[in-house]
Amino acid sequence: MKVAVYSAKEYDIESFSKVAEKYGINYKFYDVPLTVDTASLAEGMDAVCVFVNDNCNKEVVDKLYEIGIRIIALRCAGYNNVDLNACYGRIHVVRVPAYSPYAVAEHAAALLLTSIRRIHKAYNRTRDYNFSLKGLTGFDLHGKTVGVIGTGKIGKIFANICDGFGMNVLGYDKYPAPDFKGNYEDLDSILCKSDIISLHCPLTDETFHLLNSDTLKKTKKGVVIINTSRGSLIDAEAVLQSIKDRHVGALCIDVYEEESNLFFNDYSGHILNDDTLARLISMPNVIVTSHQAFLTNEALANIADTTSDNLIAFYNDHVYKNEVCYHCPKHDKCVKAREGKCFD
Ligand code: NAD
Repeated sequence: MKVAVYSAKEYDIESFSKVAEKYGINYKFYDVPLTVDTASLAEGMDAVCVFVNDNCNKEVVDKLYEIGIRIIALRCAGYNNVDLNACYGRIHVVRVPAYSPYAVAEHAAALLLTSIRRIHKAYNRTRDYNFSLKGLTGFDLHGKTVGVIGTGKIGKIFANICDGFGMNVLGYDKYPAPDFKGNYEDLDSILCKSDIISLHCPLTDETFHLLNSDTLKKTKKGVVIINTSRGSLIDAEAVLQSIKDRHVGALCIDVYEEESNLFFNDYSGHILNDDTLARLISMPNVIVTSHQAFLTNEALANIADTTSDNLIAFYNDHVYKNEVCYHCPKHDKCVKAREGKCFD
């Protein structure tokens, strides 16, 4: 089986090369993202493997279908970058639903601690032999209220970590989980009661700009916001304004609305064209990491393994492991639920 791997970085090449022989897959790595112009690189291949910022819009899906691709293997959990309507009935989409929820939850905790204890400031200071503590006062997490929005795999682990710190854990989810360590409340009360808000829900039409100028007004003055989920859950302009208004106390983001042309690449020495991001980065109470929450050895190994397994199951056995649900018109009488596969 020949697979075109788009947006392949050093760490992808390393982890996928390690498992290629075991699965009998010939991975061809491209450092460019999948676009309508690069889709033809997959000509003659059996599948494409893509990541979070590869844009599988209708135009790209049409092109892939035209050159004979019948499966898109996402090497991530989220699939908001794939036009599922365009794929339905033509191209199967599989993903890695969980590779290490611990990696992401622990990164969210790392961002939170770094921010509220000013570790990022202290680190830079001591490197200059500046041992002053001026401006480094933080606050205890113990006794504070954290609102976890989206209490799935990652949100639940993050809640457990917060519980370990002795925090009062609140949660909001469309589908509450029985084993969530905290109390469920409605979104508005989470917004107004929480000292810290951490986003762990997927990006959907419903969650797009979940934090916007209206909802941000409902939050506590000084609230710390953490987003390791998807950039467009937050209206970046609105949160920037709220920081300027001294309302939002700190912002920690691993994801950003307009990240797709920036993240994963080195633009040091370039002029950043995104004024909103540049302004956010200039703020002392904003921490930006470039979609690295997943980046642990354990997660990379799991991603390579599950993606290869998904591909081989499709290629050898016509089984669609971890196929994304298309929410097609036949959703009520779902074929997938009966036979374990979607269409054909
Ligand atoms: P999950 O599916 O286990 O959990 C998502 C939860 O969100 C579910 O409980 C679901 O019911 C809930 N939800 C859905 N719609 C909602 C809504 N409108 N309001 C509130 N809750 C809603 O997913 P997960 O594995 O915990 O991942 C969460 C998100 O983390 C993913 O969607 C992905 O975007 C992101 N992620 C980021 C990274 C990274 O490197 N930064 C890595 C992996 C995943």
